[in-house]
Amino acid sequence: MTARLIDGKAVAKKLRAEYSVRIADLKARHGIVPGIAVILVGDNPASEVYVRNKITACRDTGIHSELYRLPSDTPEADLMKRIDALNADPAVHGILVQLPIPAHISLPAVLERIDPSKDVDGFHLYNVGALVAGNTVFPPCTPFGVQKLLEHENVPIEGRNVVVVGASNIVGKPMALMLMKQEATVAICHKKTRDLAQFTRLADILVVAAGVPGLITADMVQDGVVVIDVGINRLPDGRLVGDVDFEGVRQKASLITPVPGGVGPMTITMLLHNTIVSAERSLKLGS
Ligand code: NAD
Repeated sequence: MTARLIDGKAVAKKLRAEYSVRIADLKARHGIVPGIAVILVGDNPASEVYVRNKITACRDTGIHSELYRLPSDTPEADLMKRIDALNADPAVHGILVQLPIPAHISLPAVLERIDPSKDVDGFHLYNVGALVAGNTVFPPCTPFGVQKLLEHENVPIEGRNVVVVGASNIVGKPMALMLMKQEATVAICHKKTRDLAQFTRLADILVVAAGVPGLITADMVQDGVVVIDVGINRLPDGRLVGDVDFEGVRQKASLITPVPGGVGPMTITMLLHNTIVSAERSLKLGS
């Protein structure tokens, strides 16, 4: 069997076209434009690229965006003041602090300062708790993008064995919760897991977000598995690869995401989605 590729770029493009219509409708009927504020502290080159991509995606879709650049030695109190001002600004429906932030600033304090109703990344404790309880407010963008891809490909989830490799707060853990909510049987593996292959071989759906190139090889998966590779790794020769040995694993899988062009384009798309939903919710609150 050779896997069919899941074209994340195409799915993202289709969804973004739908979002543009939704935004135009919000403007025409209610006179509001969804708005997002992005705060970038410091000059991490990777963050610069991510932020630029987010701003461009917003512009192309019709979302108003504001970028706040703060120097790397910004005191925590100044960042908090900026967040407070954005929390109070009715034109801002989403607030995103680009991670990582400098070490002298407390990450939990920053995440909890953002109004949960504008927390389009879904990282505030309130939103994390809502996800655990099964009442998701803003699903975190990367696992949400994976969920949308599975939905788009009509992959059945209920009763399936799902193995998530990687247990981070932004990808692995929320991913597992989302799939559990859909009544999959979920195992979460991480760097201390003994005999990773013993788990991955049970997977009907395998989601890998470890940040280790070539971690999953063909002998570690069963025939017909659906493979979602979240990893993004830059090799010394400049190539961008995922965590899965793509050429080997695609010979056994039924569906597989490429890197690049799989999960990546979906992450920003889900940020657009959450911002639009936030703007729509603000209308209901206001009326
Ligand atoms: P992280 O470093 O916060 O977490 C990595 C997780 O993988 C940890 O739970 C760790 O225990 C586990 N892990 C590490 N080595 C392992 C191993 N050998 N075996 C099993 N588990 C192992 O990383 P993260 O932020 O969750 O990101 C993971 C990967 O996903 C990275 O490559 C990152 O670049 C990528 N990523 C992609 C997107 C996207 O939009 N496609 C978004 C976020 C992260």
